[in-house]
Amino acid sequence: MHIECDDNCRGGAGCSNKRIQRCKVKKVKKKRVEKGFGLFADEDIQKGEYVIEYIGKIVNKDPENEYGMKYKDFHLWVDGSKKNALAKRINHSCDPNCANHMWAVKGMPRLCFFANRNIVKGEELTFSYGWTLPKKDLKRKGTVCLCGAKSCSGTIEKVEIS
Ligand SMILES: [Zn+2]
Ligand SMILES: [Zn+2]
Repeated sequence: MHIECDDNCRGGAGCSNKRIQRCKVKKVKKKRVEKGFGLFADEDIQKGEYVIEYIGKIVNKDPENEYGMKYKDFHLWVDGSKKNALAKRINHSCDPNCANHMWAVKGMPRLCFFANRNIVKGEELTFSYGWTLPKKDLKRKGTVCLCGAKSCSGTIEKVEIS
């Protein structure tokens, strides 16, 4: 887990490791796309920069809807289904330009998106949902992926190995 500095850090006001607590988010826009809504960059974003936080209700069981996001290594999820937050509009891609990382901010875990590569204004933001299809369920078809990437695997769910 990544950890942001707290108030005791020597960097003080100039510390660059307080992006999340300072809400240094990027300008983004929600737009209609083929599959519902998507989230788009409304300014250029550099590789590695903090983009936006995934916000919702913190729950201790899998909400089993498409807006549940798990805190890695914890039995906790953020359920984004009830809140009208922008980050839940980020669609899946098999070749995503963002990744979600868990950060500890003043002792609380937060799920935040960061740019995988440079992103230009107007580009759709994407990340890999990381959904899996257990091998025993192979007969069940996965959700068709519309990401359009050259490396698209055809479905959002990857088949579980072993
Ligand atoms: Zn610091
Ligand atoms: Zn795809």
